[in-house]
Amino acid sequence: MARYIFVTGGVVSSLGKGLSSASLAYLLQSRGYKVRIRKLDPYLNVDPGTMSPFQHGEVFVTDDGAETDLDLGHYERFSGISAKKSDNITTGKIYNDVLKRERQGKYLGKTVQVIPHITNRIKEFIKNDANKEDFVICEIGGTVGDIESLPFLEAIRQYSNEVGKKNTLFIHLTLVPYMKASDEIKTKPTQHSVKELRSIGIQPDIIICRSERTIPLDQRKKISLFCNVSIEDVIETVDVKTIYEAPISFNKEKLDERVLKFFNIKSRKKVNLLPWKKITQLVLNTKKKVNIAIIGKYVELKDAYKSLDEALTHGGIANNLKVNLIRIESEFLKPSEIKTRLRDVSGILIPGGFGKRGTEGKIAAINYARTNKIPFFGICFGMQMAVIEFARNKLSIKNATSSEFGPSKASVVGLMSEWTKDGKLMKGTDKDLGGTMRLGSYEARLKKDTKISNIYKSQRINERHRHRYEVNINYREDFEKKGMIFSGFSPDHKLPETVELNDHPWFIGVQFHPEFKSRPLAPHPLFSSFIKAAKINSKK
Ligand code: GLN
Repeated sequence: MARYIFVTGGVVSSLGKGLSSASLAYLLQSRGYKVRIRKLDPYLNVDPGTMSPFQHGEVFVTDDGAETDLDLGHYERFSGISAKKSDNITTGKIYNDVLKRERQGKYLGKTVQVIPHITNRIKEFIKNDANKEDFVICEIGGTVGDIESLPFLEAIRQYSNEVGKKNTLFIHLTLVPYMKASDEIKTKPTQHSVKELRSIGIQPDIIICRSERTIPLDQRKKISLFCNVSIEDVIETVDVKTIYEAPISFNKEKLDERVLKFFNIKSRKKVNLLPWKKITQLVLNTKKKVNIAIIGKYVELKDAYKSLDEALTHGGIANNLKVNLIRIESEFLKPSEIKTRLRDVSGILIPGGFGKRGTEGKIAAINYARTNKIPFFGICFGMQMAVIEFARNKLSIKNATSSEFGPSKASVVGLMSEWTKDGKLMKGTDKDLGGTMRLGSYEARLKKDTKISNIYKSQRINERHRHRYEVNINYREDFEKKGMIFSGFSPDHKLPETVELNDHPWFIGVQFHPEFKSRPLAPHPLFSSFIKAAKINSKK
């Protein structure tokens, strides 16, 4: 049976529970154990698929087609383990499920209640599909004390009681603030947060204290005494200079050691921190920079393009460069200003997106990249916009557009309603917006001797998708005659997957999201290649 590690947060949100969980996963894995990480989100949305990136940051997509919380991206990048649909649970999903069962009469006339029906369902999800793992790390979203978290906390309390205390470990992550005025580190918020947790029956076994500076022994002792944990289990995490340092720092503070000690098991292998040390060195010491513009609609919120930012950084790591991201809001990018605003930029990236707002700015920027031979990378919506730009300016289809923006006679990008997966015909619907897209990992076939197949060093790739519209294949010949090559297709040859220009140093559009599969220890080839092209361009 898998051992469970539940990670809760206290005092304030955004303390880095995701990064802590992901780092712990790496450390346990490196010690020879099989690990799985899950996120339990207290919000009422069934999944984050329909949430605005402004609200919740990026929607991360798994291989098996789930639209999940962006923390699952952290987990994948740090642990190298691909997340699954069963790894993200929300209150909405649980209630949806329980209410469906209630309508089907499955509760045999009983009154359906939070305890036991909701909590039972949460426990089923926690246990689900985790037979082969040594450890399952479950991060509980939100902060202890939130009304919405209560059913989850109650469920994990019950779970621990059912499977035995020795099989479940509770980690609580809190903030230990430094007060400048009195030059003191304060433990009171942590004490209160643990008190709150204990009032619902959960005694943390390990407390991770996030702090701006080192916590003196006296304060650690205080936390140990008031919160009823041994002093060795008060683990500090002082702000790191780069996130890649987190596994090193947690290991230094003996987090993984204490976890193994709790479960009374030994390390199977010596932990390997070398890759993280190398990356940290590189990231902190590289002076050379390359400027990349991300032109999108959600640039105000950093987390909205989390995986993309990360993938570009990984591309920088592969080229020993710092990637300086210049975020430009496409809605306010006037065509007349493009030249000045993009003057110092060595590469232009248009990310995924939805809706018409801001598209003209994107199209104008693509035109600038195409005609000035600036490396250009179009991802999903970015590829669709590149196709529209090309159609308007090279094929003279002046009103070229996407049917996403309304009915038109010149939809070079159109609604996709059918596609095949594993030989089966799939259909999208336009009634529900959630979960009705072409989602998850699909194979694409790349044409031989194209730029993209040379970059992948393969003609068969698998990448994650999240879109409803597709480039209209009927225009293919016209595009290719003018130099835009349809270089990749779905295996049934119906859906264009990649495009590229043959008279441009680096102009590639992909219908999928390669950023989801890039990892710091294994940068994605497309991002490494794009940054390399930008580096060459910056020297001109
Ligand atoms: N809005 C576009 C579509 O649905 C692109 C989606 C995306 O960029 N992820 O096809």
